[in-house]
Amino acid sequence: MQDRGKIGIRLGRRRVASTMAKKTGKPSTDARADARSGRKNAVRRGARAGEHAAERVAEPLAELLTAWFRSAARDLPWRRTRDGYRALVSELMLQQTQVSRVVEKFEPFIARFPTPAALAAASEDEVLAAWQGLGYYRRARFLHAAAKAVVARHGGEVPSDAEALRALPGVGRYTSGAVASIVFGARVPIVDGNVARVFQRLEAREGSASDAAVQAWAWERAEAFVAAARAPGVANEALMELGATVCTPAAPRCSACPLRASCRAHADARIDEIPAPKTRVARKDLVLVTACLRRADGAVLLEQRPRGGLWGGLWQPPTVESADGAELSPRAAAELLQLPSSVALHARGEEPFLTTHRAVRFVVFAAVVRGAATALSTRGRVWVKPDELANYALSNAAKKVLARGG
Ligand code: SF4
Repeated sequence: MQDRGKIGIRLGRRRVASTMAKKTGKPSTDARADARSGRKNAVRRGARAGEHAAERVAEPLAELLTAWFRSAARDLPWRRTRDGYRALVSELMLQQTQVSRVVEKFEPFIARFPTPAALAAASEDEVLAAWQGLGYYRRARFLHAAAKAVVARHGGEVPSDAEALRALPGVGRYTSGAVASIVFGARVPIVDGNVARVFQRLEAREGSASDAAVQAWAWERAEAFVAAARAPGVANEALMELGATVCTPAAPRCSACPLRASCRAHADARIDEIPAPKTRVARKDLVLVTACLRRADGAVLLEQRPRGGLWGGLWQPPTVESADGAELSPRAAAELLQLPSSVALHARGEEPFLTTHRAVRFVVFAAVVRGAATALSTRGRVWVKPDELANYALSNAAKKVLARGG
């Protein structure tokens, strides 16, 4: 059996440069420096021989994964046609969102905005409405801005170069690397939570995947990994797929893992403790008083949240923050929400909602408005008929509140 210590991917910066040089046929500066010092120092020669051994074992890791990926890859809509725009859309959608949700939303979004130009030409409200159900609307705004930049700077074609991709709004090192390598075959590393977890377990590297030191370490490992791969894009995607489907955070399926023989966490029975759980930041409490007002024809009164901040720019029933929300009478709630005294609210209980940073309690009131409906269309509030509702981007929280309000 292959020695576990040797099959790892422990390639430092110089080792990566050396591997890249082998692939391009051009010796790197580092490689030339190695050669000079090696001639002068027999001990260094021995060390260099060890480095080459490490390079030799890194390649099988990528090749094992690539072979596994050919039979195990999920059939996902954005994998059926490879192009930069589809990849960019899918990568932004997938951040912090379940794959099943993205599978549902991806094709309708592409059908609505088939090209960067179509997306760039849309209004922000149209983009946010099409993004509904995916949450984290900041990503939708970034994607919209990225499409505008693609049109302005790249003639409407998503660039293939990782640096040019990274200069687009909302595109970081991971997303640029994913698009450049998976679609265009660029030899660039990628690290997301799945990739970092696989590396940590392979080498039994302790710490939380969100720690800066662990992140830096994981990027080094990813550089070495991609430098040794024959097909960098496929190897990168295979690594992500392994983390998403086999080396999962809880109960990984080690018996189905192509890297099991090389995995130190598995051998040492330390899978449950690597990576260490994230340190959770305590959520802040927020109480929101909200009124679901409906007309007899089913139209609902909505207002738009201010741009920026929590659910920025999304639509909601009239809502106001109040620490006293739970104690408010319907009349006091109506006053707080600046509703006419003719609107008779009824209490509908509370709706809890957790965001990443907040524990929100909606104190929900409701009323059917018969006479004074027009008088309520002030302060940016609008009546929206049921068949128009899809054009208004509502947060999942607002949808739950409306369901409670009836
Ligand atoms: S053997 Fe288990 S813990 Fe190790 S990489 Fe594979 S799935 Fe992850």
